[in-house]
Amino acid sequence: MGLKILNTMGMRKEEFIPLHDGEVKMYVCGPTVYDFIHIGNARAFVIADVIRRYLEYKGFKVTFVSNITDIDDKMIRRSQETGLSLQQLGEIYSNAYFEDIAALNIKRPDVSPRATQHIPEIIDAIQKLIEKGYAYQVDGDVYFDVSKFEEYGKLSGNKMEALEMGARIEINPRKRNPADFALWKAQKEGEPAWYSPWGWGRPGWHIECSTMAMKYLGETIDIHMGGKDLIFPHHENEIAQAEALTGKTFVRYWIHNEWLTVEGQKMSKSLGNFITVKDALKMCSPNVLRFFLISAHYRSPIDFNRENIRLAEENVRKILDALERLKSLKERSERGSGEESLLVEVRDAKRRFEEAMDDDFNTPLAIAAIFSIVRAINNYANINAEIETAAKKEVYEIMKVLVEDVLGIRVETEVEKRTTEYEPIIGNLMEIILELRQEMRRRKEWKIADEIREKLQRIGFIIEDTHSGTIWKLKK
Ligand SMILES: [Zn+2]
Repeated sequence: MGLKILNTMGMRKEEFIPLHDGEVKMYVCGPTVYDFIHIGNARAFVIADVIRRYLEYKGFKVTFVSNITDIDDKMIRRSQETGLSLQQLGEIYSNAYFEDIAALNIKRPDVSPRATQHIPEIIDAIQKLIEKGYAYQVDGDVYFDVSKFEEYGKLSGNKMEALEMGARIEINPRKRNPADFALWKAQKEGEPAWYSPWGWGRPGWHIECSTMAMKYLGETIDIHMGGKDLIFPHHENEIAQAEALTGKTFVRYWIHNEWLTVEGQKMSKSLGNFITVKDALKMCSPNVLRFFLISAHYRSPIDFNRENIRLAEENVRKILDALERLKSLKERSERGSGEESLLVEVRDAKRRFEEAMDDDFNTPLAIAAIFSIVRAINNYANINAEIETAAKKEVYEIMKVLVEDVLGIRVETEVEKRTTEYEPIIGNLMEIILELRQEMRRRKEWKIADEIREKLQRIGFIIEDTHSGTIWKLKK
């Protein structure tokens, strides 16, 4: 059975057929480097990474491009607030982004193009859109004329009339149609700018992505991904720009992931529940965070809360425990009926894993198949102390490939790292202590609460009270 993908364009499950046999060109909207990436961004990046890894597992040669937006309104605002130049800001937060994706075991993109390094290409694209009659210039601004692109709205399903109504709230007399969007923005005082045929200014966000995507992947790309908040206007505008230029289909398969909420609420800076990847990694290990992020199907919402993180922790632990048990079985040269039935179960689970992933990357079902293998290993180890070498190797390899190579959950290093069997118990104990301390704080027993923290600190635990609860870690 082949791979099927739910294409946002048309909202139908379609068989995946790349433009060129055996090759996949993938583009994912990357971060705007004005701040640390948050766990909502991380969800989109981890999902894209799992899809990339699965396509590679299936034998495709994947070219993966993810941009870095280093010039836009947010960048300019932050630069003015902090006094840091755009370049310094971009440097700091793109380094932090690469650090975070490495921690989460996300493979580095083949190309991470930066908008500010592609200004000539962007200007060229805008120029061509003007020549073709799709764009117009007003006092140093250039706008895309949506009325010229007949299929505008085909991705989001937004009708022109509705768009115009919505856009009227913010009336801009320079635009021909209220829904027109900026390709180039004339320089305002104090803003960074590049020289263009329309004077000093800077590119709009949408034209950055479509220009860089086509530069590195060609005029038609196979998969374009992002969070569902990007469907409109960002991706709708990317399609209009790219297809107006080339007359070809810009993207064959659009994939969008659902929201991530924090304790049932949408993440926002004003609610104070904005969790960066760095914050989250103080609450749990990268492996656990990654497992949590893929534990729901990408088209379902997912909620970041204590219980879900605890569950992810428990599940990762069960997988590692089973692998450790398998490793500790003594090897023998002959195969018995125990090994035979273990292999039947494991190979069947591998097939179910593939079926689940082939069905629009159904990671929760794929994980359920992994747990069939976990149970099979445990059942075997409950009654056997020995295992045939070849069978042991096959089971271990299958687990390693599915869990580590495809899902990106590190197993090999983790199994080795677990030198003490007390590690999980310490986690549970700390949870009890911190809960009691929380109760003290609720009763305004500050002195006792502080004492608990100090005593724990003395024996090597660092305790931090954050917006989203108390976290602990071991002093290095
Ligand atoms: Zn984009």
